[in-house]
Amino acid sequence: MNSWNGWDLPFFDERHGALKERLQEWMVVNEREEGVVEKLPLAEQCDHYVKQLAAMGFLELAVANPADPTAYLDVRSICLVREALSYRNALADFAFSMQGLGTAAIALFGTPAQRDRYLGPCRQGLSKPAIAITEPEGGSDVAATRTRAERRGDRYVLNGEKCWISNGGIANHYIILARTGEAEGAKGISAFIVDADTPGFRTGPNLDIIAPHPLSEVFLEDVEVAADQMLGQPGEGFKAAMATFDIFRSSVGAAAVGLGRRAIDETVHRMQNRMLFGKPMSENDMVRARVADMVTDLEAAALTVYRAGWLRDVRRVNVTREAAMAKLTGTEAGQRILDSAVQLFGATGLKIGNVIERMYRDIRPMRIYEGASEVQRIIIGRRTLATPQREGKAS
Ligand SMILES: Cc1cc2nc3c(=O)[nH]c(=O)nc-3n(C[C@H](O)[C@H](O)[C@H](O)COP(=O)(O)OP(=O)(O)OC[C@H]3O[C@@H](n4cnc5c(N)ncnc54)[C@H](O)[C@@H]3O)c2cc1C
Repeated sequence: MNSWNGWDLPFFDERHGALKERLQEWMVVNEREEGVVEKLPLAEQCDHYVKQLAAMGFLELAVANPADPTAYLDVRSICLVREALSYRNALADFAFSMQGLGTAAIALFGTPAQRDRYLGPCRQGLSKPAIAITEPEGGSDVAATRTRAERRGDRYVLNGEKCWISNGGIANHYIILARTGEAEGAKGISAFIVDADTPGFRTGPNLDIIAPHPLSEVFLEDVEVAADQMLGQPGEGFKAAMATFDIFRSSVGAAAVGLGRRAIDETVHRMQNRMLFGKPMSENDMVRARVADMVTDLEAAALTVYRAGWLRDVRRVNVTREAAMAKLTGTEAGQRILDSAVQLFGATGLKIGNVIERMYRDIRPMRIYEGASEVQRIIIGRRTLATPQREGKAS
């Protein structure tokens, strides 16, 4: 099934129209190659998608141009690409998003030398990045980071452990958050760029989860890096990570919208063709009501996602709250839609290898990574309640 054509929303301009056409071209290429690619080992599949997306010019949308001092990334374009890729192939979406997630902090906080060294190769698909924040003691509480970086002369020595790191084992560099101790909590954490071949750095075996992709633990044992491998100023690591999320959280919602949209397209086709009690399922009012909920959920989620992108790209305002809304709304809606799709497909939707079964697994981690839904609610609630209201005005 291949009927993705973007959205007719007021949040887009001309270049997004052109991008939608290029994404449809990608779908044709992907449809041709997918059968062969999915037989390759996971790491080789990712390598294929990184190179393919670079060759087709899509990585330029995820990785900032090192020569551009504004480090401009258009969130609506990132969201459109992620939605289209995940509509067809979750691993292609993963490969695209990781190139951006593992470089955004370098684009925003890096020195010219760091930007030259790391952004260009990732943009060209010659190098793969990772960002390692989560630790075994609890990923949601980033301020409690235990990995330490100790200053020794003109170097830092890093010790600690990270877990659930996407691209772990295949990345060429890792952005590592480590405690440098300028202050308690979040303000005492700095970010470092650590090359994968640095002595003392190693990754564990691939962690198998329900939606397979390169994922591993990361171990740092007396890893020495030059002081100029620090990203931004001492104590700015948490800020660098959150700035990355302000760009990429909306795009998780977009990827979930892509999965939800494909699920609806597949469901409509199935309901029109599956005969039950002597007529197509599409003529059953309970089916119609469920499909109505699915499409309404999807369209509300898409509006929230692209509005967050538009606010950042066009209005240039802080979108921490809106990006959290986009991730929360997109992923929760995507999960509900996929669950309904499985229900309407019946046993067929549970069969290993069925597209609905695959997407039912693909959607699940999205409500956990880059901040679980509970964390998004806390961000939204905290920011809403911190906004002063004028006396006598309730809304
Ligand atoms: C597929 C995948 C890819 C990932 N990739 C990366 C990566 O590249 N880099 C990286 O650093 N990390 C990565 N992670 C880790 C991810 O960011 C963490 O899993 C996530 O932040 C949650 O942390 P945790 O798993 O330790 O759960 P915990 O922090 O132990 O939380 C468990 C659950 O508690 C609930 N919860 C959390 N906080 C609150 C709260 N304040 N109030 C109420 N309930 C709460 C949520 O339901 C949460 O799922 C990845 C995870 C997955 C699944």
